[in-house]
Amino acid sequence: KAMIRLDKFLTEMGQGTRSQVKEMARKGRITVNGQVARQADLKINPEADQICLDGAEVAYARTEYYMLNKPQGVVSATEDGRYQTVTQLITGALRGDLFPVGRLDIDTEGLLLLTNDGALAHNLLSPRKHVDKVYFARIEGQLPGDAVGRAAAGLVLEDGTKTLPARLEILEPGQVRLTIREGKFHQVKRMFEAMGCRVTYLKRLSMGPLVLDPALAPGEYRPLTEQEIQDLQ
Ligand code: URA
Repeated sequence: KAMIRLDKFLTEMGQGTRSQVKEMARKGRITVNGQVARQADLKINPEADQICLDGAEVAYARTEYYMLNKPQGVVSATEDGRYQTVTQLITGALRGDLFPVGRLDIDTEGLLLLTNDGALAHNLLSPRKHVDKVYFARIEGQLPGDAVGRAAAGLVLEDGTKTLPARLEILEPGQVRLTIREGKFHQVKRMFEAMGCRVTYLKRLSMGPLVLDPALAPGEYRPLTEQEIQDLQ
């Protein structure tokens, strides 16, 4: 049971692209239980078979989950020609196929989940699941007196799209917390723009049950605990 292709296994474990792995196999660099495997499409059981590349065992790593406090200046992508990416910050990852669940703008900080659990990511991002995302923002400009009510009623953005009801809390002048259940492009910034303000600092504090660990400085990350993983299911 749970058989997968040899090239898929090695690619998921970060050993190279599919075509690179195919080439490794062709050159006889890969063994499965001690036997040279030249066919990259060979079916293997990652939990039971011993896979070696150039004589070194490639250990099987299960799905991984990391919480990152995303710093500014880093893009929410796996690869980028110009900027450092969030996956590049997870230097201790066991597997090579991590991706960020959703996106934060380059100048936004805070909670970002990185995983290779495609089903979980799909669930969290599904508009029908309505996962709450909580942001802290510093804003410039004067909020209208009825800002809390307008956010709760749903705002009309500059391009005419209407937002779902959101919870706005004014912490002190110029500092707010906003809870939204969707993730439109630049949504938080555009919601404040719709009320005549400008966001000067934005940080995500939580996503559904997952809360940013206050011990993580921007750029730091840690694996999720078993409990956190369970809570996300
Ligand atoms: N809303 C924004 O405007 N930016 C983000 O990064 C996240 C939510």
